[in-house]
Amino acid sequence: MNNLTFGIIKPDAVRAGNAGAIIQKITDAGFKIRGMKLIHQSKAQSEGFYAVHKERPFFSELTEFMSSGVCVVLALEKENAVKAWRDLMGATNPAEAALGTLRKEFATSIGENAVHGSDSDENAAIEIAYFFSKLELV
Ligand code: ADP
Ligand code: MG
Repeated sequence: MNNLTFGIIKPDAVRAGNAGAIIQKITDAGFKIRGMKLIHQSKAQSEGFYAVHKERPFFSELTEFMSSGVCVVLALEKENAVKAWRDLMGATNPAEAALGTLRKEFATSIGENAVHGSDSDENAAIEIAYFFSKLELV
């Protein structure tokens, strides 16, 4: 499954009206969208999704933020999708993100950083399955 990854357009970017521009950049970069929908997670759902970070000091802030509004969840296909999507997203902290990356253009802080991307093929499969049923993937 090294051609699939999972992405989220986070609530800050959706609230700011940037979801359309981000989706355009995703397709311009050569990704195929295999799954896409709007969700508004509960706090508990976002805690489940980010369970690997539960010991981190920002866990409560992060899950509060991720459940604060609508997200776009995405299953994305491209060769070496995990790396290609993280390259397009840019560094976690927008202050360190390279020119041309989504976080450079759309993120406002290290917490509210516009997009999520899986960090491995294994996690991509887990994260896609967390949000999509088989019927929702084309
Ligand atoms: P990435 O999203 O680039 O994979 P991490 O997995 O390290 O980054 O962190 C997950 C998310 O937690 C980040 O995208 C960001 O929203 C939030 N986060 C990370 N570090 C901090 C921090 N120091 N303060 C607040 N939020 C943070
Ligand atoms: Mg991560």
